[in-house]
Amino acid sequence: MQLREYFPYDVRDVMRALPPDGDMRHKFRRFTLNPRVDNRARSVAAFAKDVGFGVEIEQLPRGMNGKLQSDPWSDTGKRIVVSSRISREAQRFTVLHEMGHHFRHGEDDNPFADDFFDVSGSNVFYVDESKEREAHEFAEALLFGGAQLTAAVGLHGNNLPALARYFGVTERVVSIALNKLRY
Ligand SMILES: [Zn+2]
Repeated sequence: MQLREYFPYDVRDVMRALPPDGDMRHKFRRFTLNPRVDNRARSVAAFAKDVGFGVEIEQLPRGMNGKLQSDPWSDTGKRIVVSSRISREAQRFTVLHEMGHHFRHGEDDNPFADDFFDVSGSNVFYVDESKEREAHEFAEALLFGGAQLTAAVGLHGNNLPALARYFGVTERVVSIALNKLRY
């Protein structure tokens, strides 16, 4: 399988989206370059807290994966809430996706900019498709960027379940990412 190493939106772009804070950039770089810690997929919740987000698991309405809310007590001023109804792997991706909304869309002059509601299936909530795609790219770059997915394919080949376990995400997320790297 012929793969590109880098996504069109990769860690370099994530770095550009971050505030000019050397310590935070270092934490992001370390997260992406170390997909496995102590022989398991590294903790996404610990990472999000480390860079200044509140993180909560709550019973959200069916179909809503997560949301980003104002939180005066956290360093970023935001709290990431993920649904208790979705799998642990989906929760991990949702945390990174919400971080994408914060760093890519947080400065918008938009009354909805503080509150993103992530839904799947029927759109009973307000969803901006281009913003959803951008938040997805951000999460993907953090998880698989810096040539990490290409390296993992070197170890596991095209074995989707093994790749999903390696990164601690769903097979669907790996499959979408692989398609973006194919020639
Ligand atoms: Zn979203």
